[in-house]
Amino acid sequence: MSKINNIKKINGIEGRQQQQQQQQQQRQQRQQRQQQQQQKAMPLDSDNSNKNINSIRSVSQIIKSETTQDGEGVTLNRSFPNNFISDFDPFLLLDEIGPTDLIPGKQKGFPNHPHRGFETVTYLLEGKFEHKDSQGHAGIINSGDVQWMTAGSGVIHSEMPEKEFSKYGGRLHGFQLWVNLPKSKKMMKPRYQEIPRSKIPTGTTENGKGLVKLIAGESLGSKGVIDTITPIMYMHIKLESGSILVQPVPKDYNVFAYVIKGKGVFEENNNNKIIERGNLVIFDKDGKRIYIKAVEDSKIPLELLLIGGIPIREPIARYGPFVMNTQQEIYQAIEDYRNGKLG
Ligand code: MN
Repeated sequence: MSKINNIKKINGIEGRQQQQQQQQQQRQQRQQRQQQQQQKAMPLDSDNSNKNINSIRSVSQIIKSETTQDGEGVTLNRSFPNNFISDFDPFLLLDEIGPTDLIPGKQKGFPNHPHRGFETVTYLLEGKFEHKDSQGHAGIINSGDVQWMTAGSGVIHSEMPEKEFSKYGGRLHGFQLWVNLPKSKKMMKPRYQEIPRSKIPTGTTENGKGLVKLIAGESLGSKGVIDTITPIMYMHIKLESGSILVQPVPKDYNVFAYVIKGKGVFEENNNNKIIERGNLVIFDKDGKRIYIKAVEDSKIPLELLLIGGIPIREPIARYGPFVMNTQQEIYQAIEDYRNGKLG
């Protein structure tokens, strides 16, 4: 092999091309090595992160969630879809359920409804929900638990406050995220991943001022236990007032943050741009890290979700609880639902 290469090298154009290719490869390898070294040198939690300013993503959009109601009149803060943003590939919807205080004896939830073509991710911070589907799958989601449901070809289920919780009332607070599925997985067999609070890995930042719950993806040396169909990261981050987290994110990912509590700054050079609870922050894809700072004078720590994923880049046809690629597939879903062939 090497002999032939050598002859080519001596004998003309092919050889020159090969030399150029080799040089280019060497250049790329050098660059890669340099990048890796930079990454190693960069601590995750750092107060001197301005050395790497070019790699920090800029904020492209801030969207205030809208208070709305769904199901039997459950109060929600919906970040999207709305008039400004129909979806944020691969994400289709983000609802903050509550925070609201359930009146004892008055249960409000989401009675039987179908889903097809995507995943629903329920993360409960406070309260207790029970779910039941038409195939007999049922369970309880306690505070701190995650249910990652891949509806695939179809699920008909109810999501209701748990009986005791409903009877005595109490605070309800959580999130539901809809994650799209690629065409090849839209009709997959439904799948549940139910992860109790105790099995959700957590990481602490170097200075001990930040806590990350890792629902999916990787951070601070921990890895989430959820098996995602397309690569997704889902983190619940708590930062003490005045502290900073610079979180690496894969470069292909679309990433957003949602402020749950406290006040945050997401632009390193713009400390005056303070984002308060209930707002969604969408990042550009111009860097490899997300800058998060909990505002100094805030009495409560900053709490947020940081969520990202690789865009699926396929056409979206959407009608309520069905998300497919074509209108024809939507008609099919409606027909299947009517004929009892869904879920
Ligand atoms: Mn549902």
